[in-house]
Amino acid sequence: MTDAALDERDDRGNWRPAEPIALAPINAWPPRPVAVLKWLFGFPGYIWPYHLFWLGVTLVTWAYLTPDLATMKTLELWWIALIHGRNLALIAFLFGGLHLYFHILRRQGDDRRYTTRPFPTDSGRFRFRDQVKDNMFHTLFWAVPVITAYEVITYWAFANGYLGFIDPGTNPVLFWGWFVVLLLVAPVIHSIHFYLGHRLLHVKFLYRSIHSLHHNNVDVGPWSGLSMHPVEHILYFSTVVVQWLLALHPVNALFQIHLAAFLPALSHSGFERLRIGKKLTLDGGSPFHYLHHKYFECNYGGSLTPLDGLFGTFHDGTDASHAAMRQRMRSRREAMN
Ligand SMILES: [Zn+2]
Ligand SMILES: [Zn+2]
Repeated sequence: MTDAALDERDDRGNWRPAEPIALAPINAWPPRPVAVLKWLFGFPGYIWPYHLFWLGVTLVTWAYLTPDLATMKTLELWWIALIHGRNLALIAFLFGGLHLYFHILRRQGDDRRYTTRPFPTDSGRFRFRDQVKDNMFHTLFWAVPVITAYEVITYWAFANGYLGFIDPGTNPVLFWGWFVVLLLVAPVIHSIHFYLGHRLLHVKFLYRSIHSLHHNNVDVGPWSGLSMHPVEHILYFSTVVVQWLLALHPVNALFQIHLAAFLPALSHSGFERLRIGKKLTLDGGSPFHYLHHKYFECNYGGSLTPLDGLFGTFHDGTDASHAAMRQRMRSRREAMN
């Protein structure tokens, strides 16, 4: 990407990256093994820091901020409250921290920001007439209890032997091998599950009654990420159910929950890149999902899987892609009429 891209802001303050959005190299056909290895193990890459960082958070949370599994055999208020308190703190720290960094302290100015429009503070679309306050409300009062509920069910079920049927002592190679495989594919599970649930929520009736709340955020910030209707929270975080079926260890389930909980903060940041110091920049708010918020009718999933491409809804940010989306919408309207 060239720095000239920084100057491509239109009259309304919109900015877009100079290069088209590309899918992860695992989607390339014919296969590109060198590109895949670079993407997996390079820096910044799929493993480090994008997912290993969050795995670190999961492991610290499991080791130091979660009661012993044996004590969670019976549902008791004290340990549920403990888990809920630490979830509130983690989410407030991450989402609030990014909002502070990007939008209050403006540490990056408008560098790689998709729009320069301020968040509405007097709009009937939002509770308290304020986008950020509305988003905080839906995140802290709805998203966090749903996260806690899924976690509590997970630990209680593992503690009682309803999940995770193989004991690490009887077959440690199988147990820990499967543990690592599930950690590696958790982001892909997240991506596929998100696509399917999200596509469902764009069915007219469900969109109007549930998902439109998330789409009140046309211009996004970190707090937009988990600002959803409670029914959408239940659907979105049900990605952990995949781990209930597959996992042998609760950490796999917690990692799956954490990906769903934490990734939206940066992916909705409103900035394409996160600058850390003078030299390092990391992927910020994905242009992929930003275009979904802007145009609604494209990019239902993410760039990890080819699902949008397969179903004809991929928008790579170029004018050609935009024209194709408009044509698709016109054809659909005509078919309905
Ligand atoms: Zn979104
Ligand atoms: Zn949507």
